[in-house]
Amino acid sequence: MAAQVDLNKCTMCGGIVQPLCVEICPDSAIRVQDNRVVVTEFLCEDCNECGCICPDKAISVSVGKITF
Ligand code: SF4
Ligand code: SF4
Repeated sequence: MAAQVDLNKCTMCGGIVQPLCVEICPDSAIRVQDNRVVVTEFLCEDCNECGCICPDKAISVSVGKITF
């Protein structure tokens, strides 16, 4: 599993170039591609830092997997 982004909720942090989730991910697992955020599953360690910082609550990490 990896962080799941709900693209219906994500507003790209209001359209800033470097969204908060991209900025905070310690594993550089999130990037912007084609104007939406994409999680690279094999890099994601399910830490949920992106989920905590997302202003739209658009990111979810399955609870059992949160590592710290
Ligand atoms: S859960 Fe952690 S490692 Fe995975 S995309 Fe979010 S911030 Fe990055
Ligand atoms: S932090 Fe949330 S709203 Fe901002 S780009 Fe990431 S998923 Fe979208």
